[in-house]
Amino acid sequence: MNKWIVKAIQVGSIQLDRSAMTHYKGKGEQITVPIWCAGATDGKHKVLVDTGIRDLIEYQKAEPGVRQTPEQDTTVAVKQIMGWEPDDVDIVINTHLHCDHCGSNSKFKNSKFYIQKSEWEAAFAPYAPEAPFYDEICFNKQAVNYFQWNFLEGDAEILPGLRVITTPGHTRGHQSVLFNTEHGVLCVTGDICNVADNLNENLEPNIVVMVPETYESFKKIRQVAHYILPGHEPAVINGSDSFITVL
Ligand SMILES: [Zn+2]
Repeated sequence: MNKWIVKAIQVGSIQLDRSAMTHYKGKGEQITVPIWCAGATDGKHKVLVDTGIRDLIEYQKAEPGVRQTPEQDTTVAVKQIMGWEPDDVDIVINTHLHCDHCGSNSKFKNSKFYIQKSEWEAAFAPYAPEAPFYDEICFNKQAVNYFQWNFLEGDAEILPGLRVITTPGHTRGHQSVLFNTEHGVLCVTGDICNVADNLNENLEPNIVVMVPETYESFKKIRQVAHYILPGHEPAVINGSDSFITVL
C-alpha cells in the first residue's frame, strides 16, 4: 500500500468568536483560525485537498473576519510548502464547494477535480444559511472545464492509499479525504470538523444543514482515522506533517 506524505498549507485566516465553530462553547472568546489546504504526494502524484479563497474582498462579504497575507495566496503557499507550480498539480479533491475551499480551483489548469455529485448539485441550490458561501464562479464550468470534473457517488478510492468518504452535515455532499501515511491514517476533514473539538467533543461545526448526519459523519471518521486535519484548526502548524490525534 502506498504511503503518502501530507503537509498542511495555510492559505488565509479568519478572526471570529470561538463559539461560531464549536456550537456555543467558548462564547465571547475572539480567536484567529487558519484556512487550511493540504498538499500530498506518494512520490509520483501531486494532490491538493481544497484550494482556499478566490478573492479576499468578495469573501469578506460572507466572512468579514477573513485575512490573507501575500504569502498565503494559494499558489504562493503551495510553491513555498510543496515546491509545486500550479501546473504540476495532478489532482484536486474538494471536500465541499464553499468559497474558502474551492476558491482557487481555476488556477490548477492541469488537474483533475474530484467532488461528490450531490455537493455539485447542492451548490447550485443552496439553503439560505449556506448561500453566501457558495460562489458559483469558483466551481462552475468556466472555473473548471467540464471534462476535468469527476463526480463521485459515495466513498471511493482515488489512488492506492488515497480515498474519500462521504461526511455530510456541514453541507449535503461533503466528503473527507483519507491518506495512508507512515504514522497511520490521516483524515483531511474539510469543514465537517472546523476544529478538532468538533470531532473530539462531539460539537457541531459552524454551519450544519443536516444534524443527525453530522454525528454519523463524526462516527465514520473516528472508525477509520488516527489523525485529522480539520478545515480551520489553530493547533496545526503551517508546513507540518503532524496533525491532531483522534481521541
Ligand atoms: Zn465550509
